[in-house]
Amino acid sequence: MTDTSKLTELNANHVLHPMSMPAFDNEQPLFVERSEGVHVYDNTGKQYLDGLGGLWCVNVGHSHPKMVATIQEQAAKLAYYNTFGDVSNRPSVELAEKITGMLKPEGMSKVFFTSGGSDSVETALKLARHHWRLKGQSDKTQFISLKNAYHGVHFGGTSLNGMQNFKQNYGPLLPGCSQVDGPFPYRNPWTNDLEELGQICADILERKILHDGANNIAAFIAEPIQGAGGVIVPPANYWPLVREICDKYDILLIADEVVTGFGRSGSLFGVRGWGVAADIQCFAKGISSGYIPLGATVINDKVAEPFLEAAPNAFVAHGYTYSGHPLACAVGLTSLNIVEEENLVENAGIVGDYLLQQLQPLVERHEHIGEARGKGLMAALDLVTDKQSKTPVDPASGYSDKVSAICQENGVLIRSVGPKIILSPPLTFTKENVDTMVNTMDLAFSQVSL
Ligand code: PMP
Repeated sequence: MTDTSKLTELNANHVLHPMSMPAFDNEQPLFVERSEGVHVYDNTGKQYLDGLGGLWCVNVGHSHPKMVATIQEQAAKLAYYNTFGDVSNRPSVELAEKITGMLKPEGMSKVFFTSGGSDSVETALKLARHHWRLKGQSDKTQFISLKNAYHGVHFGGTSLNGMQNFKQNYGPLLPGCSQVDGPFPYRNPWTNDLEELGQICADILERKILHDGANNIAAFIAEPIQGAGGVIVPPANYWPLVREICDKYDILLIADEVVTGFGRSGSLFGVRGWGVAADIQCFAKGISSGYIPLGATVINDKVAEPFLEAAPNAFVAHGYTYSGHPLACAVGLTSLNIVEEENLVENAGIVGDYLLQQLQPLVERHEHIGEARGKGLMAALDLVTDKQSKTPVDPASGYSDKVSAICQENGVLIRSVGPKIILSPPLTFTKENVDTMVNTMDLAFSQVSL
């Protein structure tokens, strides 16, 4: 029995994969064994260019020597202790200082550490409700999110997700959660004019608030750029208009920056790219470059204020065993330092622009690529049956899966998500890496038919 067939059998017998189904787990998976820089290697030693950055997260690249050293040093010193109540540790304090320093222009002042993105969203929702309760406005419990949104897999996030497949088997969901149309330039029934689209969608949000009653709504939550929904980049006026509306109706604005935080979109934070400050920001992924699970929910003074007044009900009965995990926070601090030292935000902007440019000829050459879109080092190809109707290809056709399988055979990892191809490489990607990735995708699209 070869190593691969043995691992495959064990995998099939014992592992339930996330975002999969048991029937799939019998297929032969890619066993990723080792990684370095922008590459990963399988158990046979074959090299792959990592077009996914792990899963939108390996911002500083794989096996960075400073990250490895931090893990070794911190693990030898203090791998774990809790931070409940009045227990603390140096790495969590230093990382909180680093993050709030980075977010000074947005006025964010307090950090609540979590173990990942779903935790960060859940924390944001609970802090938002608690905030209003402390202010004597306990009816403000509802949340509004966007269609095509992805906010993780806990029940709050599941209830706010804008894609039905993430919700349909898990009801009853959290009451008081609803989705409104967000601006999707490529697929909307209204207009090709970006500014008009931003205004239309902002009006929809305002009408929803008026309909449901601002006194019932705790917060509006959105990703600065929708990631899993298909890298949907909103028009420049949308976020500023949303900020105005939230202020006008006294509704908290939550930016889910799990993908966009710390550089991926070509600005240090997604909302900063739109010139907006949110009240609460959710982070994970890039915060530790995926080397160890970590997330954070960051709040501004306005949100923090009622908690600091020591009201009888201000006890935050929310926290994770791994909140402020010293090893994870030390890794996070090193990751954010590397992002600054190696100018990775700037690189994401420059190489991201180049990526988008290089993808355009593929749109012209291949009949089933409707659009290439993105910002920074997050991009998507929208796959269609024909460009006129823009009908999404049926995921059951296996079209995008075949494209990504051919790329994998040729040493490039990209992600097929239903009728879309998603790209989110490490922020250390070079233009040469882009050429390799795009040329391989070009080849794959030439070999697959619908
Ligand atoms: N929010 C957003 C915007 C995400 O993209 C994700 C994960 N892709 C999550 C939340 C959930 O993060 P996690 O998988 O770490 O729980």
